[in-house]
Amino acid sequence: METVLKRKIKVGISECCFGSKVRYNGKGFDYVKNFGREKEQFIFYPLCPECLAGLGVPRTPISIKGGSGEDVLQGTAKIKNRKGEDVTDKLIKACEYSLELLKREGIYIYMYKEGSPSCGVYRTTLKDKRLGNPPGIFGAMLLKEGFFLVCADDLESPIKRWDIVRRVNAFTWIKEAEIENKNQLYEVWHTVKFLCQELDEKTARSLGHELSILDNIQKEDIEKYRKNMLEIIREP
Ligand code: SF4
Repeated sequence: METVLKRKIKVGISECCFGSKVRYNGKGFDYVKNFGREKEQFIFYPLCPECLAGLGVPRTPISIKGGSGEDVLQGTAKIKNRKGEDVTDKLIKACEYSLELLKREGIYIYMYKEGSPSCGVYRTTLKDKRLGNPPGIFGAMLLKEGFFLVCADDLESPIKRWDIVRRVNAFTWIKEAEIENKNQLYEVWHTVKFLCQELDEKTARSLGHELSILDNIQKEDIEKYRKNMLEIIREP
């Protein structure tokens, strides 16, 4: 089994983190430049759900009212701009379309802008260090779909970047590894188990134990264990 990825990894990215000046205030950030030559490993797919929703640049800032992005998707919260206009439907449609684009291209890694009510995952505001109501709408969709989520701000730290690159590689490799039988499953596990143990020792050890006492194995079991490994690798 090949353990080295020989192709570029496709990565979705919040467009404002790719140098595009698409934020509500007409600003943007170039976090990708931090990769230096490592950038060559990736193909980037920049997306801005708020622009796709037709909100324009610059635009009146929006926020989640009455809950999180997940609540918006459940229909119990709304997204409004500072003028009080309801943009919930437009934004949900734009986020759904963005997700469809990523899935159509076989992308399952996304670098997001923290603090956004759309793309944020663990914060939906940066003001006064408050968390807001995380996740944002698009963040909630990506979490639910099992994406490997990278906070783009973390790309500024060399240590975090090193960790991100190794985990993105491992995640992609596990996701695409051909696993048809128990031996191949063991081969994948033995390749990634030390990384899994380093990231979450308790869960990794219990997974290792479960695998060691496996008897017969069905296709559904293989996918369940693949998912377990992916969940450990994508832990924040
Ligand atoms: S955080 Fe997302 S929605 Fe906001 S400007 Fe960046 S890409 Fe657009």
